[in-house]
Amino acid sequence: MSAAVSEPRPKIVVMKFGGTSVEDAEAIKRTVGIVKGRRDQGLQPIVVVSAMAKVTDQLLAAAATAGGGDRDGAVAISFKLRKRHLDTADQIVGREIAELAHFLHRQFDALDDLLRGIAAVGELTERSTDLVVSFGERLSSIMVARAFEHRGLSGAHVDARTCIITDSHFGKAAPLEEIIEAKLLEHVLPLVEARAVPVMGGFIGANEQGVTTTLGRGGSDYTAALVGGGLYAGAIEIWTDVNGIMTTDPRICPDALRVKTISFEEAAELAYFGAKVLHPATILPAVQKSIPVYVLNSRNPSNEGTKITPIAPKCASPLKSIAVKKRLTIVDVVASRMLMSHGYLKAVFDVFDKYHCAIDMVSTSEVSISVTVDSNEQLPAICAELGKIADVKYEGRKALVCLVGEDIRGHNGIAARVFGAVRDINVRMISQGASEINMSFMIDEEDVEEAVRSLHQEFFSDPDEAVFDATARMAKV
Ligand code: ADP
Ligand code: ASP
Ligand code: MG
Repeated sequence: MSAAVSEPRPKIVVMKFGGTSVEDAEAIKRTVGIVKGRRDQGLQPIVVVSAMAKVTDQLLAAAATAGGGDRDGAVAISFKLRKRHLDTADQIVGREIAELAHFLHRQFDALDDLLRGIAAVGELTERSTDLVVSFGERLSSIMVARAFEHRGLSGAHVDARTCIITDSHFGKAAPLEEIIEAKLLEHVLPLVEARAVPVMGGFIGANEQGVTTTLGRGGSDYTAALVGGGLYAGAIEIWTDVNGIMTTDPRICPDALRVKTISFEEAAELAYFGAKVLHPATILPAVQKSIPVYVLNSRNPSNEGTKITPIAPKCASPLKSIAVKKRLTIVDVVASRMLMSHGYLKAVFDVFDKYHCAIDMVSTSEVSISVTVDSNEQLPAICAELGKIADVKYEGRKALVCLVGEDIRGHNGIAARVFGAVRDINVRMISQGASEINMSFMIDEEDVEEAVRSLHQEFFSDPDEAVFDATARMAKV
């Protein structure tokens, strides 16, 4: 029942622009210039955009405010968003604003109706949350498509919900890739063939009944990979606000260096363990077809960025990057007699499973199991349920520091260097081996900066220049 086997389309480049790359009129103009550049090189761009920076957070706040019954508060947030979008539209299309302004007003009227409805019921479901947040990408994608037309590129807006078909797991829906591929061939490929530049919102989709869903926070990267994978593109470009994948988050460590090339496996590991620069699922559709993924800086487009490839280049340094995942909780489950008894571990993990609570790290001793999970509102309920079979304690405000590199496996003495670098910090749980290319440990959130900076100093003060760009010590431009 699969769609026609797709053939490689090396000229197609899927270009995803994150929130900061469309945050205002200036950023949108830069984005148009970057896409034009690709067109001038004879490539066929397909553009995926995020909501304007911070809009998703504000829409979530509006939804929560409405859910709490505060209608006026919710509509006030929407009013600010309306003004920001209209101001930006005005700066992008100037005299041609009337039609776009009319469209934006209609969208915001629909959003306000929705918020009032949620406030009247006083209950916010995941399904309504998805509908509220979907406005971010629906609006930004229309504005960017209009900006293209206004600047001589034939932008063609595509409502992502006609192509990105998912299951009904609102808030973190799973894409149905075969259907997506067929929809892309039907709705997007003909536009490319007609020399238009399709522009679609990332992050959003619809289930098979047409109800709006989202792919989870940061999900626009995932959309780009689904489009690139579905159409068998020649490349996927993730345009963001840093020069590429860096040796650590430059916000934590301004000395971070650009990693020139990194493997799919390393990038996936980094993303999973908190490097926000890439959504963890982004890599999968690209890996399946070996499509190279580039991470590039829309504020510094001439920088060559990071290339993510199937095989990592040889590297003299054992690590490629250090990721940090904050807002974690350690749950200690202590059972005096039962740990080794048949079915006990299953009973413990079943409780987490029941609440859809993903576990990051596990360690066991004779009588206890410690697990780390994302801090979430369900934890009291989870712990109450676990309390029926064991003694349970939990402690929040923890962070996972994760060192990633394919060469970890070939190097001796890494653990000694790591724990030497963080010797003054209280380390709670350690894991190495689950994946040969990472080593991770838990610390208190307040120790993150000190730990990352001293690890960075230990591992990247003498970088292998074949892999790291030592000339660009300042990540942000
Ligand atoms: P976008 O809106 O473009 O998707 P994000 O904010 O999601 O951008 O991701 C980019 C941010 O990721 C950077 O500004 C940076 O602070 C953060 N980041 C975390 N870890 C890394 C890393 N290893 N390399 C680069 N950026 C990182
Ligand atoms: N706008 C969404 C978010 O902020 C998706 C994305 O930007 O990738 O999570
Ligand atoms: Mg992102």
